[in-house]
Amino acid sequence: MSEAKTKVLAVGAHPDDIEFFFGGTLAKLKELHRKRVQIYMLTICNGTMGSEELECAQIRQTRWKEAQESAALIDAHYDTCDIWDLELDLDRHKAKDILVGQIRQIKPDMVLTHTPKDNYMPDHRVASFIVSDALFCAMLPNYNPSRRTNEIRTRREIEGGSVGYRYERTKSLPLPALYYGDPFPGYDMFQEEQRPTFLVDITSTIEAKREMLLRHKSQGAWLKAGHRDSDYIRTAMEWNRRKGKLVGVEFAEAFLRHKGTPYNQEPRLESLLGDSVKHIGSQ
Ligand SMILES: [Zn+2]
Repeated sequence: MSEAKTKVLAVGAHPDDIEFFFGGTLAKLKELHRKRVQIYMLTICNGTMGSEELECAQIRQTRWKEAQESAALIDAHYDTCDIWDLELDLDRHKAKDILVGQIRQIKPDMVLTHTPKDNYMPDHRVASFIVSDALFCAMLPNYNPSRRTNEIRTRREIEGGSVGYRYERTKSLPLPALYYGDPFPGYDMFQEEQRPTFLVDITSTIEAKREMLLRHKSQGAWLKAGHRDSDYIRTAMEWNRRKGKLVGVEFAEAFLRHKGTPYNQEPRLESLLGDSVKHIGSQ
């Protein structure tokens, strides 16, 4: 009989966010556990505003392709709710209900997403609350995500002709453990570093993270044009190097835990990562 896989769901506002926040940790999980862990990468928005040169339809396609290439490097499943960038605030019910459908289908053991303290841009801020809200709603037997929205399928489900999630009343589901990353790009809107619950030593997987980020080629052009960031890979590396210094390793990613009920409080991610988990002051 095959062993049940641990399921990790990472949710980002846009294609490339998951890689920026959690790429090294996800690669570490694969390095440590191979096929015993299944990683799902889900972006709420589709990246339609991420280009100075390409129109929305073109950049939507480009970013879909880039995100799939990146996810393939760690054998992860990639999909998107396909909400247009900067319309998430308007489409938040639709996004939440697609997420409820995904959570009930995937049944993740743990979920990683943006911190509510990420004020880099509106989609990041809203995404954080939508993910924690969707987890809460997914637990409730009477919550029917198709009551409010006609279309609760992801892009992959629509294009693959899948019926997607169908509501069936069941008993309450247990909530997974919920983890947040750093604010982008490593500090809050007042340039204050957030004190994380723990950090993950990603020194052995920093090259895997770099490779994943490199698949998001269109972001290189966009961040250069829109953010005057001449090298987004260097930005990510410097961010992780800065975090690593907090715990005496070369590169690290920071995590905050959602504490308190009803989210699961077992140290699920920490247990999977073992010695790679570092606490400030304990090294
Ligand atoms: Zn983003």
